[in-house]
Amino acid sequence: MRPNSWLQRQAQLYPKRPAFYWKDKSWSFHALNEVVQAYAYYFQQHLPKNCSRVAIFSGNSKEMYLTILALWELGLDVQLLNTRLTKAELTFQLQDAQTTVMITEEPLNIVHQIAFPKELAKIAPENYLDNGYQLTDIASIMYTSGTTGKPKGVPQTFANHQASALATQENMAITANDCWLCPTALYHISGLSVMLRSLVLGMSVRLYEKYDASKLATDILEGRGTIASVVSKMLMDLLPLIHQQPSTFRHFLLGGGPIAKAVLYECEQKNFSVIQSFGMTETCSQVIALPPEKASEKIGSAGLPLKNVDLKIEQGEILLKGPSVVQTYLNQRTSWDEDDWFHTGDLGYLDEDGYLYILSRMSELIISGGENIYPAEVEQALMQHPLIQEAVVVGQEDSTWGQVPIAYLLITDSLQRTEIQPYLASLAKYKQPKAYFIVSAIPKTASGKPLKRKFLTEERVNYIVYQLT
Ligand code: ATP
Ligand code: MG
Repeated sequence: MRPNSWLQRQAQLYPKRPAFYWKDKSWSFHALNEVVQAYAYYFQQHLPKNCSRVAIFSGNSKEMYLTILALWELGLDVQLLNTRLTKAELTFQLQDAQTTVMITEEPLNIVHQIAFPKELAKIAPENYLDNGYQLTDIASIMYTSGTTGKPKGVPQTFANHQASALATQENMAITANDCWLCPTALYHISGLSVMLRSLVLGMSVRLYEKYDASKLATDILEGRGTIASVVSKMLMDLLPLIHQQPSTFRHFLLGGGPIAKAVLYECEQKNFSVIQSFGMTETCSQVIALPPEKASEKIGSAGLPLKNVDLKIEQGEILLKGPSVVQTYLNQRTSWDEDDWFHTGDLGYLDEDGYLYILSRMSELIISGGENIYPAEVEQALMQHPLIQEAVVVGQEDSTWGQVPIAYLLITDSLQRTEIQPYLASLAKYKQPKAYFIVSAIPKTASGKPLKRKFLTEERVNYIVYQLT
């Protein structure tokens, strides 16, 4: 039988190459395929007949990794659920995707449930399952983070993932010798895309149960990985733990959201090779990335489009097209125009060399007296203050200016309004917040992104402790 899944192809061509590391165990592609076949057999026995879509609710685990691979061998769509969602949010995502079966260890009782296998049968190679998949088939379904509104279901095809992996291979020169450290969740595209790069490119993955800065730093320092996917918070935590990037380590791939320039300067001083990137659930991970050799020259830029990605700016909005960009949402096709350009909802601009700079979400742009205010610029200035842990700036209706910027601050110790002023000296007057509220918490999405829209509704009173006068 001709193996036609990516896993079986790697196992046949390169059986001895390392594929997967979990805690103190490792699997070659041959060993991985063997255990995935046992998982596939288990799920074939336990899943309802005629089921074509299965959800997984789990934090990173060996079982989750093997289950995703097994469900693909069975030709099933895999819906990945964020474990920080509420029951109501989970119910919405399952109903919206019409998914009726879930694999989990938690007693959720929303739809029919199956546990991960506890004992495995040994499957002889002649009995290997390989329902195979077409590139146009849906591989995974993930919902967007719900930062700007209701989360949207994103059907990611094998073709989207393949294009993304190949584009990453070109931009980071990935080979089978690379080992990618993955502390991000598999239910986010930043995590799942690492697994797909392993299948498509033959590199190995070291998966972490949860993000632990000292564990990650030790693995980097002791040569147990060549690349790591990180978000800005992780990079900030690693800075004091890693004095010098070891020669065995190649790059940090930084994504997920904006980062303060001060952190990038610190990375530069320590010779950290950081690849800044821009991507979305809808683009199956990074589509724009900054080559590390341009890091200081183009500091603050998200970089250049990866292979086969087309980028243009229309009325300030970033528009994308390319084989890793999905073609539709589940049940709606709201963000694509008639020429198939995907409208990201993010504002940005290109410099004279074509490097992209992200400014803000369209929905978060503040227009005051005809001037544009990008909240991130003001928030970053505020967060320079050592007592300001987090800052959120939103536009409030104003009869004179249309909108004015208002700041919500999470602080670590008491603070006077006059102490803030020096940190805003570099900002034009119209960008400086007109009022400051100290809050008890900043509400976040299940992905940990600030839910700024909560501060535009009456709900804001639930968070305000007092106003700074
Ligand atoms: P929703 O679409 O439901 O509102 P979301 O857009 O937060 O949620 P994700 O797909 O998790 O869902 O996040 C993608 C978004 O993250 C991008 O559209 C962008 O706003 C932000 N983002 C990603 N990378 C960067 C970056 N390098 N700089 C600034 N923002 C970024
Ligand atoms: Mg979005």
